[in-house]
Amino acid sequence: MAGPVEEQIYRGPRRRLIETLREGGIRDLAVLRAFEVVPRHIFVPSAVVHRAYDDSALPIGGGQTISQPSVHARYLEELKLTGHERVLEIGTGSGYQTALLSHLAAQIFSVERNRELLDRAREVIRRIGARNISLLLGDGTLGWREYGPYDAILVSAAASDIPAPLLEQLAPEGRILIPLGDREEQILTVATREGDAVTRREIGPVRFVPLVGAHGWPS
Ligand code: SAH
Repeated sequence: MAGPVEEQIYRGPRRRLIETLREGGIRDLAVLRAFEVVPRHIFVPSAVVHRAYDDSALPIGGGQTISQPSVHARYLEELKLTGHERVLEIGTGSGYQTALLSHLAAQIFSVERNRELLDRAREVIRRIGARNISLLLGDGTLGWREYGPYDAILVSAAASDIPAPLLEQLAPEGRILIPLGDREEQILTVATREGDAVTRREIGPVRFVPLVGAHGWPS
């Protein structure tokens, strides 16, 4: 629920989460502000709602997880968004990160392959009233060609390499954030496009669910 009573109940825990993020080194004020205004408790299943503002990953159904807030925060800070970008997100999941992004960039396009998760995310996003989010059911390893190129692409699931269609849909100077490795462990990697060249920088070890699709892992 996102009613006024729930808002009151969760205000304290949400403040504490933001404190945790700050103590963990998140400095970008726009990112911290996004965590302040997006109610994580309406994106998590009711069985785990009491843990909505813990800094931990939580199950969202279908064997998928909503990432730990500090991981989302690091991701978002790494993108250095100014509010003017077109962003493509692969793996909508609960829609929580999509909602955070909607406060940090101009337009968000998000692709999810699991229909049940996408339907639920669509409903929650409708309830919070975000107007700059477009959702698509499909294989995100193919990108979303219609609205590209994108200034930033976030991949919320792990691949062994960057899917070629995503690089093609990246704007000049655009950056793509993706966990690269095997199905168990990955290194969060940021790739930046400079003309035809792509430079890569490794950020640190992470664990994401596999990116399943034509340019990802087999299902
Ligand atoms: N950022 C999400 C967490 C996503 S978990 C959140 O805040 O809740 C990773 C998601 O990627 C899962 O929902 C999974 O179904 C989705 N996924 C995996 N492979 C995909 C693909 N090829 N295209 C689109 N979504 C994919």
